[in-house]
Amino acid sequence: MACQTNCKIPIVVAKEAITKGDPLFLPKPLSHLKFEIRSAALSIWQDNWDSGETGRSTHDIVPRVSNKPGGWNREDLMFVTGHRLFPSYLHRFNLRTQDNCSCGEKGDSMHYATKCRFTLSWHFQTPTVSLKLQWLKNILTNNLSRTRLRLNPVWTSILIKI
Ligand SMILES: [Zn+2]
Repeated sequence: MACQTNCKIPIVVAKEAITKGDPLFLPKPLSHLKFEIRSAALSIWQDNWDSGETGRSTHDIVPRVSNKPGGWNREDLMFVTGHRLFPSYLHRFNLRTQDNCSCGEKGDSMHYATKCRFTLSWHFQTPTVSLKLQWLKNILTNNLSRTRLRLNPVWTSILIKI
């Protein structure tokens, strides 16, 4: 029964500390603050990404923002975003009067990856409109397709011949 005597004292002390004691201030560690800031920043970024007006085709493929690398190389990014010195891209910024390739069709990334006669050896089969999103995802997750994309001279040349 020695425990009764020894155990009651800490319980009484604990009750007094809860009811009469001063509140104890324990600051959260810096890592918690960094976590909170990162979470808030990602949330704001996600909201902006979801409600943005540009990059919608990229949003379809990558709907979630992340501060970790997605594993895409330069050619993958150019293919998905169309941000390259394609005639259509230059035309978008009024740096060309027309958006067509020298073969006559609209010179965008899809054209060079699927239709242009100058890049025939690196073509992918043209997807149907309803399957385009899945088609893009398949290319970006298949190493053989990504290699073919990377070897397409359009992606490796500095400027598309006008
Ligand atoms: Zn062409």
